[in-house]
Formats: sequence, structure tokens, C-alpha cells
Amino acid sequence: MLKSMALATLFLCFTHTVSAEWFKNSFEVMGTQAHVEFWLDDTEEDKRTSKKMIVLVQEEMHRIDHAMSPYKEKSELSLVNNKAGTESVVITRELFELLTESYKIAELSEGAFDITYASVGYQYDYRKKQRPDQTSIESALKAINYHAVILDGEKSAVRFSHPDVKIDLGGIAKGYAVKRCLELLRAAGIKHALVSAGGDTGLLGDRHGRPWYVGVKHPRAEEKTAVKLPLSNESISTSGDYERYFIEDGVRYHHIINPKTGDSARKVVSVSIIGKDSTYVDALSTTVFVKGLQDGMAFIEQLPEYEAIIIDNQQTLHVSKGLQQE
Ligand code: ADP
Ligand code: MG
Repeated sequence: MLKSMALATLFLCFTHTVSAEWFKNSFEVMGTQAHVEFWLDDTEEDKRTSKKMIVLVQEEMHRIDHAMSPYKEKSELSLVNNKAGTESVVITRELFELLTESYKIAELSEGAFDITYASVGYQYDYRKKQRPDQTSIESALKAINYHAVILDGEKSAVRFSHPDVKIDLGGIAKGYAVKRCLELLRAAGIKHALVSAGGDTGLLGDRHGRPWYVGVKHPRAEEKTAVKLPLSNESISTSGDYERYFIEDGVRYHHIINPKTGDSARKVVSVSIIGKDSTYVDALSTTVFVKGLQDGMAFIEQLPEYEAIIIDNQQTLHVSKGLQQE
């Protein structure tokens, strides 16, 4: 009797623990792999919610890609790049706000993060191993200056003060997309979730009683992980020189560009930034990559809400003070 009661209790506990589950989905978007996973109860209603949320997250990422991709002729970003050099262009509030955040980060970083890097950036093609020559770089540098992006809040419009200015949101859009998707999941009552797009990951809560473990890729061994971090309720973004690059005469040309030189930034090989806001950690990882170890670490140390893990070009790992104390 006692035995069967114990068994019944066990069974009850067991059915209780499996009556909730992880829902997962991976898909391609923004030229990278995206992933979402979240925890929900296994009731019929929750199953319906989970199916709906899986679709909504995927649609949201594609929506942002369609608006902000420089590779899509009809994207809002392409429209801005085609017209804002000659006239004021009215844009969605969403793009306007992202341009405003980009401007603020450009100011904060003293131009290390600058979406107008694009006038030289668009002359690189990493797949075709093409890069601009010095003359082309020098002429493009004249159009690299975030002050040239004039934002009009009342009209929700943008204009470039120099005809050759181009902008690109590759250093901030994925983090923004992660942030938006986390907001959608939170609004649906989900308390434990992970959303990632390439090297940008955002976390809602913990992994149901345990932290999430987010890995930073080893910059020179694709299958390896350099560090794994236990995180909850945080975002982490990694910028590396191994995502899009080619090597010519022993020099690595990759997709993070120093706006002051028009050349790839080569002081470090990987930067991860941890903090609450996915949009900011994305832009700040690109920023610190451009600044390098000393300037980049000093920059992060004066922002109490953000921590950094930097791998320098000798492959030594450095962490900001907040991470050393843990
Ligand atoms: P990933 O795109 O691999 O996640 P990052 O978050 O570091 O890596 O973003 C790199 C992208 O940021 C580049 O592909 C480019 O679109 C953009 N970018 C490159 N250099 C700069 C810069 N100095 N300021 C702003 N954006 C940049
Ligand atoms: Mg970034």
C-alpha cells in the first residue's frame, strides 16, 4: 500500500515536471542563423501560444531585415541611402529611433561606432575578396561623419549633409531585432526565453532554475568555445574578425571597419559585451572592437551597466572589473 502510494506520488511529480516544455526554432535571417527557445506549460492553450510565438518571432526578424537590409533594393534603408543625399526623407518612427540611438552611440564612442562608415564599407566584398584601394578609401573618408546624418524629430525625417554619405545598420540591427523579439515573448507572458541572431543573444529570465550558458566562440578554432558564461536576464553580443573576412598577403580584411582609416580594425580579434539592452550591447561590441584593448576597456569601465570580454591579437583574454569580482 505504502509502496503504491509512493509510486503514485512519484508519478504525480513526474507528470508535473513534464507538463511544461521547451519550444525551439532555428532559421536563417539577416545573413545569419537565428534561434529562439522558450519555456511554456504544456496545456492546449500554451501549445497554441507557443506555435503563435514561434511564427511571430520569425516574422519580426524578417520584418526588420526587410526594412533595414542594405542588400534589399526596396528596404527603407536603401531608400534613405538613395535619396537622403539630395532631399529630406520621411521615415518610420522605428527607423528614426534606431538612427537616433546610432547617433548617440557615435557621440559616446567619439566616432568609433559610426553608421556612415558605409561609404567605404560598401566597397568591400569579403566573398569576392575585394577591397577598395587607397585612393578610393581617401575619397570615401570625406563622407564618413555621423554629424552628416541630420535627424528631424518633428517630421520623422532624415537628410545627409554630404551627397556621398551612405549608412549601414549591420552593427546594431541584429541586437535591435533580438530586443524586439524578447519584448514580444515577454508580452505573451513568457518568463524564460533565449533569442539569438548570429553573435547577438538576449535572455529573458533564467533557464528555468538554472542560468543560461552562452558561449563566446574561439576566434581561431571554429568548433571551439573560448569561454562559457552563466547568464540570466542579460544580453550578450560578440563581434569577431572571423565572421566575414579574407586574407591577402597575410593581412586579414574583415567586416569591422575603423571609420577614421577606412581599413579593418586589427587591435583585437574578439569582443563580447554584456548588459541589459540588446541594441546597445550589439553596437558596443562593434565599438570596443574598433577602439582596441586599452581604449575599449577604459570606455566600458566608465559605463557601469556594461561588461566586456576582449580577446587581443595575441589571443589573451581580458575581462572588465565587474566580471573579475564574480
Ligand atoms: P556581426 O555583424 O558579425 O554580428 P558586429 O556586431 O560587430 O558583427 O557588426 C559588424 C557589422 O557592423 C559590419 O558587418 C558592418 O555592417 C557594421 N560596421 C562595421 N564597422 C562599423 C563601425 N565602425 N561603426 C558602425 N558599424 C560598423
Ligand atoms: Mg555589433
